[in-house]
Amino acid sequence: MAMRLWLSLTLAALMAASVPAQDARSVLQAAAKAMGVENMRSIQYTGTGWQGMVGQNFAPDRDWPRVDLTSYTRTIDFDTMSSREEYVRAQGNNPTQGGGAGFPFLTPQKVVNFVSGNSAWTLNAQGQPVAQPGAAELRQIEILTTPYGFLKGAMVPGANPTVVTRNEYGQRVHVVSFVALGKYRINGTINAQSLVHRVQTWIPNPVVGDLYYENVYTNYRAVNGVQVPRFHQHQDFDDGGHQPNVSGGDHAFGLETISDVRLNVPNAAVAVPEPVRTAKPEPVRVQTQKLGEGLYLLAGGSHNSVAVDFNDHVVVIEAPLNEERSLAVIGEVYRLIPNKPIRFVVNTHHHWDHLGGIRTYVHEGATVVTHEANRPYYQEVLRARPWLLQPDRFALYPPEEWSEGYIFETVREKYVLTDGSRVVELYNIQGLPHAAGMLIAYIPREKIVVQADLYNPAAAAPNANNRAFQRNLQRLKLDVATIVGIHGNPAPMAQFVGFVNKTN
Ligand SMILES: [Zn+2]
Ligand SMILES: [Zn+2]
Repeated sequence: MAMRLWLSLTLAALMAASVPAQDARSVLQAAAKAMGVENMRSIQYTGTGWQGMVGQNFAPDRDWPRVDLTSYTRTIDFDTMSSREEYVRAQGNNPTQGGGAGFPFLTPQKVVNFVSGNSAWTLNAQGQPVAQPGAAELRQIEILTTPYGFLKGAMVPGANPTVVTRNEYGQRVHVVSFVALGKYRINGTINAQSLVHRVQTWIPNPVVGDLYYENVYTNYRAVNGVQVPRFHQHQDFDDGGHQPNVSGGDHAFGLETISDVRLNVPNAAVAVPEPVRTAKPEPVRVQTQKLGEGLYLLAGGSHNSVAVDFNDHVVVIEAPLNEERSLAVIGEVYRLIPNKPIRFVVNTHHHWDHLGGIRTYVHEGATVVTHEANRPYYQEVLRARPWLLQPDRFALYPPEEWSEGYIFETVREKYVLTDGSRVVELYNIQGLPHAAGMLIAYIPREKIVVQADLYNPAAAAPNANNRAFQRNLQRLKLDVATIVGIHGNPAPMAQFVGFVNKTN
């Protein structure tokens, strides 16, 4: 009896494993036929939807802040791996709480992004091309993660796709996989109707490492001989099923309605403008400005840091962007202030452009000073993900103190860094739409406030963040002469007051 039961279990297991082992190519060919991709050389689709500002949520456990895409058109030419994406984004009725990258949008913004093979560019407000050499791989991945681009990419000679099957939503589905551009694994789930249901990959990111990037395609309908889905994209995970929930950002892009689809459109291949063709990535520059004795602004890029010389160590305020920026700034700090370790790195807030350099400082041996609300996110997310696509020093030579958790100093309302002579006071900014847990640094000797995203001297009109900043300076009764931004040039306090009191 026992033996018979064992035998029948074995048989059942064998049958499950021997679901007709269709090879990847036949699965792809069936999908190409069902989807109308066989004779597709180019496609153009137009619709409306939404966009999430990745890495710019109000708090780490919230979703990416969202804007409407009031118009959206993408044209892809598969032979040349080129794409023209044009959209207008507007605040619409989306909540205004939370977000950098110009959020909330007071006026609609037009964006035009291009890729052609290894060249990527955008158009500035004057309509002139601006090279974006760092974006070319990601834009090609965007093509390859459309349902059509996935099938085309997986069927390119030499792609060597593999296939597994699994049960999902009551169906046995195929997951076909190939490696694009030499390193990006791209997986496409093809359902029982031979429609591409999901395309997933990972892209390198300085905050979370191999960033999960997924497009979910549902609600297919036939338009002009091609199957057209609802587009729904995630970047990173909402870990709402975990306790505690520390990472909430995931919704990155969606097209809810598609109004027009054209196949094999004339002039779909875009020509690369000459200045773009020859563009090289901008070298990282650090330009130092002395703000006081042992006090330096480290500028020269889109984001600044501030270095403060203490008795036997250095404090750096803000580690923005990525490891490349951090290494350049750290090198300059050690040139300016030799023979002292960087013991603390102050992080103003959790937005990714202000956080991407922090791992380099942790590897350097610095303790992270941040608002207490950020700690679970930093502790879990920054260390836990795979970091294979573009490994940094932290990934290659991991410091155990991060995983063991004793490299944080957290701030609720006020925290003071001092050696008895030099003083840096950190304060929480209350009632701010831009981000929860935002710190400013006040340096009494020079009457300087260091702030991120609370005042941009180049802005045209004051917003709710500027007003919250002013209210907090009044609440804290800080005697401020100069406002030093993580963005832009230092500005006199009087200039800020005049700006924020403007009525239009
Ligand atoms: Zn921000
Ligand atoms: Zn910023």
